[in-house]
Amino acid sequence: MPSDVVVEINAKDVGLEKIASGKVREIFKVDDETLLFVATDRISAYDVVLENGISGKGALLTQLSAHWFDLIRTHIPSLQLHLISLSLPPTIPPETQPLLVNRSMQVRRHPILPIESIVRGYITGSAWAEYRASGTVNGMRLAAGLRESQKLETAIWTPSTKAEAGEHDENISKERAGEILGEEVAGRVEGMSLRLYEMARDYAEKRGILIADTKFEFGLDAQTNELVLVDEVLTPDSSRFWSAESYVVGRSQQSYDKQYLRDWLTSTGNRGKEGVTLPEDVARRTAEKYTEAYERLTGKAWP
Ligand code: ATP
Ligand code: MG
Repeated sequence: MPSDVVVEINAKDVGLEKIASGKVREIFKVDDETLLFVATDRISAYDVVLENGISGKGALLTQLSAHWFDLIRTHIPSLQLHLISLSLPPTIPPETQPLLVNRSMQVRRHPILPIESIVRGYITGSAWAEYRASGTVNGMRLAAGLRESQKLETAIWTPSTKAEAGEHDENISKERAGEILGEEVAGRVEGMSLRLYEMARDYAEKRGILIADTKFEFGLDAQTNELVLVDEVLTPDSSRFWSAESYVVGRSQQSYDKQYLRDWLTSTGNRGKEGVTLPEDVARRTAEKYTEAYERLTGKAWP
């Protein structure tokens, strides 16, 4: 593995307590209210983490999220964001700083709502599979005769459960989300997710990218009970980004996200298997797709 690929980060080197390790991120405690949220170069698909990482991916996810947080702050100033700063806490040992720089955010720690807040503007993936089988998406009946990748009349909110490690997220109805979160909170999550998606969709479309779907996570501010947007936002890990130029209804699309990797896993019989190592060219192509998404969306060259 090239030495510039970072798939593991030790608490000992960081000098902070590691409080969680997700599929992609490692989370350290800075103080009672603050976390250091570090994106590694790990990549997961179909809920399994691949053996090798994608060079530069962690930094790219962090920098692209930061770009969106800035835009959201401008367009939806009433929404609280978990991002505090992209700088490292001053206690990080100098020899560890190069490992963490650019891939880390200091964020406010919040209790996380136990659903994934997914918005879809186009029908693809698990939604297309359900629609094809039953004419519904998350149990909601949609217009008859939709074709694969078709743009929906209006974007829809299709929440899912947040699976424990090793389990798969499960799509749920709005009613179920209301039972889990309470009707009032669920209504706010739906409304804010749609608003975020619409803002991002219009922004990205001007830059040649269609956001087919995306996933948000929210926390609650314990004092005010207001929603807080947490986690990564509108990255190729959390979204399906399609090329606007080559978009054609009725088939799968050319994308700037994990779809290339998912297709490789499926076509080689590796879908959902543990311990899979990506061939060098698949890792490189995936990195190129992520880079292109970053460059188009930010208008900046990726270093
Ligand atoms: P995937 O994104 O592939 O589903 P994952 O859910 O395991 O993987 P990671 O991205 O590796 O997630 O880790 C991020 C974790 O941090 C998530 O469990 C998310 O809910 C949590 N998280 C995000 N923001 C905050 C926050 N401000 N406070 C507390 N926890 C947070
Ligand atoms: Mg995540």
